[in-house]
Amino acid sequence: MSESRLEKPHLGEPYLLTPGPLTTSFAVKQAMLRDWGSWDDDFRAMSVKLRQMLLKLTGDKEGILDCVPMQGSGTFVVEAMLGSLLAKDSKTLVLSNGAYGARIAKILTILNRNHTVIDKGDYLPPRGHEVASALEADPTITHVVVVHCETSSGILNPVKEIADIVSEYGRKLLIDSMSAFGAVPLDVNEIDYEAIVSSANKCIEGVPGFGFIIAKKKALTAAKGNAHSLSLDVHDQWAVMNETGQWRFTPPTHVVAAFLEALRAHEQEGLVAGRGARYAKNRDVLVERMRALGFETLLDEQWLSPIIVTFFAPDDEAFKFDVFYHLLKEDGFIIYPGKLTVVDSFRIGCIGQIDEHVMIALTGTIQKTLETMGVKSAKPPLAALKEREKLIK
Ligand SMILES: *Cc1c(COP(=O)(O)O)cnc(C)c1O
Repeated sequence: MSESRLEKPHLGEPYLLTPGPLTTSFAVKQAMLRDWGSWDDDFRAMSVKLRQMLLKLTGDKEGILDCVPMQGSGTFVVEAMLGSLLAKDSKTLVLSNGAYGARIAKILTILNRNHTVIDKGDYLPPRGHEVASALEADPTITHVVVVHCETSSGILNPVKEIADIVSEYGRKLLIDSMSAFGAVPLDVNEIDYEAIVSSANKCIEGVPGFGFIIAKKKALTAAKGNAHSLSLDVHDQWAVMNETGQWRFTPPTHVVAAFLEALRAHEQEGLVAGRGARYAKNRDVLVERMRALGFETLLDEQWLSPIIVTFFAPDDEAFKFDVFYHLLKEDGFIIYPGKLTVVDSFRIGCIGQIDEHVMIALTGTIQKTLETMGVKSAKPPLAALKEREKLIK
C-alpha cells in the first residue's frame, strides 16, 4: 500500500473521521506553544491577517464584505449572526433539513425573532421553487437562513439555487457554512449572501475556540442595536476591532496562532479548490471502497458532500455498532455515530489532515473488523433501502 503524504497524527492518536474537531497537522499544534498578549501589537497584527486571509476566500474584490471573528464554538457565531443581523421586527424563513437547521429555529425561538420553517425532514434538500412559493406567499419575510452542508446527514444543500430565488424576491440570505467554508466554493459574486458563518475547527483545519462571521459591511453597520446579548453582539465586536485592533473580551490567542498556521497550509494547498479536491478524493475513495465491501450510502450521488458521508449499518445480526466503533478506535480510527430515525447508520468524515491513503487504510481495517465480528454481509436492511427510495424521488 502506498504511504500517505500527510504525517501520521501525533503520538499515536487515532484519526478523527468526524466533522470537527478533526485531525490537525503537527505544525498547527506546534503553533500553540507560545503565549501572546491579547493587547500587544503582534497579536493585533495576527487578528488583522486572519480577517484578511478569510476575506480572500470569498472572491470579494470591491471590499463589500468584512470579517468578524468571535469567541466560542460554531453555535456561538450562528447565534451571534442571527441575534445581531436580524432586527427585532424581522421575519425569517428557516430552511431546515437536519439537526443544524433545527438548532437555528430553536435559537430564533429563544431570541424571540419572528420566523417560519420549511422542514424537509432529515435527508432531503430544500429546493428553490419551495423557497419561491414561501416568499411569494409572505411578503413580510425579510431573511432566509440555510445550512450549506447539513453535517447531520452530510447533504450538500443547493445554496446557489436558493440564493438566486432569495435575491429575485429582494430578501436577504444568511448561510450556516460551518462545515463547508474553505472546501466548498462560496463566491459572493456567484452567491449573493448577506452573511455567512464558519468556525476554526472545520475545513480550515484549525483547533476549536472561535468562529467568524463574514457579512456585508452594510449589514454590519445596520446591525447596531439589534443584539440581544453583550458578548454575542457582532456589530460591537466589529466596531471595537476596527477601532482598537482588539477583540472586546479575552481572545483564544493560541487558537488564533494555530488558525493562522492552518490558513497558511490552506493557501499552500491551493485554497478552496485545492482543499475541496482533496476532500472530494477522500469521499470518492471512501464511498467506492465501502460499496465494494457491500455498504450503501444513505444519500443519492448528487447530494453527497465532500465533508461527511452517512452509511447504513449492515442488516447482519452480528453487526453491533458499539463493537465496530471500539475495534476501529483500537486500530486508530474514530468514526461518528449516525442520526437516522428509521434505520441504524454511521458517518465517516472526509475532512481534516487525511488523504485517500488514510481512507484506503480505514476501509482495509473496516473489512478486517467485519471479519473479526463475524459479519458476513454489509448490506443494509430492506427498510433502509426503502428510506433511501423516498429520498431520491
Ligand atoms: C459544526 C457545526 C456547527 C457548530 O457546532 P458547534 O458544536 O457549536 O461547533 C453549526 N452548524 C453546522 C452545519 C456544523 O457542521
